[in-house]
Amino acid sequence: MNEAILDVQDLQLHFSQRSGIFGRERAVVRAVDGISFQLRAGETLGLVGESGCGKSSLGKALLNLHKPTAGTVMYQGKDIAGLSDRAMREYRRSLQIIFQDPFESLNSRHTVAAILEEPLIIHRIGDRESRAQRVAELLDMVGLPSSASSKYPHEFSGGQRQRIGIARAIALKPSVLICDEAVSALDVSVQAQILNLLLEIQQELHLSMLFISHDLAVVRHMSDRIAVMYLGQIIEIGDAQTIYHQARHPYTQGLLAAIPKLGSLAEEVSQIGGDIPSPMAPPSGCRFHTRCAFAQAKCKIEPPPLRAENGTHFTACHFWENLSAA
Ligand code: SF4
Repeated sequence: MNEAILDVQDLQLHFSQRSGIFGRERAVVRAVDGISFQLRAGETLGLVGESGCGKSSLGKALLNLHKPTAGTVMYQGKDIAGLSDRAMREYRRSLQIIFQDPFESLNSRHTVAAILEEPLIIHRIGDRESRAQRVAELLDMVGLPSSASSKYPHEFSGGQRQRIGIARAIALKPSVLICDEAVSALDVSVQAQILNLLLEIQQELHLSMLFISHDLAVVRHMSDRIAVMYLGQIIEIGDAQTIYHQARHPYTQGLLAAIPKLGSLAEEVSQIGGDIPSPMAPPSGCRFHTRCAFAQAKCKIEPPPLRAENGTHFTACHFWENLSAA
């Protein structure tokens, strides 16, 4: 097994909602609420869940764009909370993100060359000539012609803009790439091209990837392992094939049922009813009990721990053994 490049332990990210002239705390949004996992060197970990479950907040906490409320993030064995300014800059260089909307994340007043050169300038890498060379190299890696460098983002299609976003993300030769709904805004045919490009680049650069998406079919295509999130917590995690074919948690089964191409399996498993509850007031016990067709009295009181039978497939459900047997 590859060693962990990122080791996240009991991570919490809470946001205060304040109101009134004295800014009194009105409520606490528990966006991420006690998450532990490891991202291994060279693997892709898929992170899936409905929108609002906290997966994007988790990505931002890993990038240190939001300071965690509690818990630790270890990068290559070092707690990022204790990094010096210089080490933090290095850490930020090693972790890069690709956003959902490439148009919003690219500066519309800059040419592609300027957009790709910017991170190199910020990190004081190379001179003008070597940076121009690197820009040409990056364009080639993402399948864009060198003539793209003098154009502006609005002159490209959605798929091409995402290629520019990917080129910018790999400009600093990171070790970890966080893809936050990176293909959700694209047409299905373009999605496939971008997913394949990401796989090629991952192999070429030996990247570890955290692939965040609400779409379990896309996550399965990309991932070695899959973590399923619900209301700020991981409720199931395991090998991608195992999660896809032997999901134990009723929520994961509901997500699988929402994939149209599954045929008979889709008819057998329960659909998820109702809306995701507010992260300001998560339900007691098992957070999924308000929507779970199998909920029992214990579920409303006792939070189920994330536990494994064979050491690799973890599920947070009191009754998954009974549900699987049934
Ligand atoms: Fe459903 Fe109970 Fe399992 Fe939660 S612990 S998923 S409510 S059966």
